[in-house]
Amino acid sequence: MRETRRAASSTKHQNVRTTIERSLARAASTSAAGIARAAGVSETFLYRHEKQHCDLCQEIFGSGPLTFYRLAAERATNGHDQRNARDAITTTLSLKSDLANSLATNRRLREQLRKLERKLSTVLGHHAEAIVGIDLALTSNMIDEPEMTRLKERIRELEISLAERDEQLEAVRRVNSDLFKQLNGARHDQT
Ligand SMILES: [Zn+2]
Repeated sequence: MRETRRAASSTKHQNVRTTIERSLARAASTSAAGIARAAGVSETFLYRHEKQHCDLCQEIFGSGPLTFYRLAAERATNGHDQRNARDAITTTLSLKSDLANSLATNRRLREQLRKLERKLSTVLGHHAEAIVGIDLALTSNMIDEPEMTRLKERIRELEISLAERDEQLEAVRRVNSDLFKQLNGARHDQT
């Protein structure tokens, strides 16, 4: 008889513990009445075992059933808050890292742009120097009227000599082409 009652009581205690654990796993807060209803015990059962010493409660809850529920719920809430805080820190760190990367990329692009600008101005400068035959970079700030006239004359001379060279080149091409035709014609004659 006593054994039977103890077994029934043990089942009630186990049911209460299972109910509490399920409720915490769902992160659902519930009342003593809610636990009692879900565990199939009376609310009075919970309060009585909370107030009076009970071997089964000590064994299963390590305290009264409601104290067990309160402490477990507090632990779960703290764990949740800590996870949220950790997530927030991780997100912040990741954003900071993204920002740093973007800034570094910007710096690299600006440096590349400056290099390209320098290269471009060097290339254009050399091009200009090649045309007028003097170092423009050294004299651009000191060009006076006679110098300008001289430079214009020099440019004109170079343009004329360039045109002459084009004519010579064209003449050479014509001669080459004629020679080629004659050579082919000679071969045809041989066959
Ligand atoms: Zn108990």
